[in-house]
Amino acid sequence: MDLTQTPLPLPAKEPGWVNRIQSDPHVLGDIADAMGGSPFHVLCPDQFAINLASFVDAMVTAGVEGKVYFGKKANKAACWPRVCAEANAGVDVASAPEMIDAIANGVRGEDIVVTGPAKSTDLLWLATRHRCLIAIDALDELEHVIAIAEANGPADPVRILLRVLPPANPNSRFGFDEAELATAIERCVGHRAHLRMEGFSFHLTGYSVAPRAWQAADLIDRCVAARALGLVADSVSIGGGFAVDYVDEDSWRAFLSDYQDSWFHTRKTFTEFYPYHASPAGAEMLTAILDSSVASDHADLAAKFAQTGTRLLIEPGRALLDGCGFTAFPVLGFKHRPDYGFITASGLSLSLSEQWFASEYLPDPTLWPVQLDGTPTSACVGGSSCLESDMLSWRKIRFDQTPGVGDLLIYPNTAGYQMDSNESEFHQLPLPPKVVVTANPTDRIRWRLDSAGIRSRKAIDHRG
Ligand SMILES: *Cc1c(COP(=O)(O)O)cnc(C)c1O
Repeated sequence: MDLTQTPLPLPAKEPGWVNRIQSDPHVLGDIADAMGGSPFHVLCPDQFAINLASFVDAMVTAGVEGKVYFGKKANKAACWPRVCAEANAGVDVASAPEMIDAIANGVRGEDIVVTGPAKSTDLLWLATRHRCLIAIDALDELEHVIAIAEANGPADPVRILLRVLPPANPNSRFGFDEAELATAIERCVGHRAHLRMEGFSFHLTGYSVAPRAWQAADLIDRCVAARALGLVADSVSIGGGFAVDYVDEDSWRAFLSDYQDSWFHTRKTFTEFYPYHASPAGAEMLTAILDSSVASDHADLAAKFAQTGTRLLIEPGRALLDGCGFTAFPVLGFKHRPDYGFITASGLSLSLSEQWFASEYLPDPTLWPVQLDGTPTSACVGGSSCLESDMLSWRKIRFDQTPGVGDLLIYPNTAGYQMDSNESEFHQLPLPPKVVVTANPTDRIRWRLDSAGIRSRKAIDHRG
């Protein structure tokens, strides 16, 4: 096998708990046995709590009041809202089942923000019952909410934000344009008895700092103007889209500059990849947004929030899940071809969502257990379905050992959108279970199924 043509490596940045569990000689093998040959996801809520705290710290350090809402669509596991509840953070939902799941895991309705377009009557009604904050996306939706609010009566005003169509994403299908916004504000003023208009929101695609800072500054001005009309307008939500730094800068630059179609099975071509290296990322990106100077009387955006008494709301999804999970696929077979091999993994490329956006998930998968004297090989990875296109990796990845049946092929950092956005029971295969691990370095590694969350928590509490 000629290994000189293999793609440049993109090793994933990993937090400590991942190394701890992957270097344990037994735990992953025990879990794999218990899962009976199925692929499985491993999740670490302790890491999520660390990420959440870093966003809160960024706000506190900047002197800004506000709240973090976890963008729930990025991962369906029950363990994340539980951490949010314990940390007094909120959850951003866009469907009734998402809302119910958040509430079932301890998040109070008042700590839930409901986003998404044209929300159903059921979702809106439930949201008003639980005093959730509703981000209104259109004039007809506003009328819908006014009708529900009038039926509920003035003792229970409905909490809303108005979502704006940002100039930085002029073709977005979400939010109010300038004329609609003026009408919406008028309606809010007219229905002050039933509506509690708490401010404005936006959510931008892309990962740039500057347009978020400018949009937030503009919405603070609009809050101040709305207060003069008698509205509460004390909050601005800047949405999600905080970048994640999957791989280091040097590897990413080298990969992009040496990139060749021949690195991929069938010379498959890709037009776009997620920016796997990003700086600033996560909470540092929030700090950069708050440190931005915005043309006004204030030193920076943070000062503008603080001095106008405006609260900052953020809705990170992917960034809160950074380093919070990986996915293990048992190797079912390894087929040699003259230039490279094929690993067939137990599982489907549906468990790696990037493959379903005509792109590829690029942080390198690794084989477990590690063989120190293995024979290097290069291989792409197919799923266990009958479709040619069911590939977890089209890339001919270089491995330091030859894959063996029963090894685990581990894709790193998959909690944010990769693991469960697109999973289905194709071929009647069950959905991969989610295994939750603890990362307390003074205890041995413990694991349980995510679905057993609330019950097993009780058992731990009673253990004393
Ligand atoms: C998807 C979404 C988020 C989360 O986005 P990330 O890129 O995962 O941070 C937050 N707010 C809204 C309105 C969204 O649609």
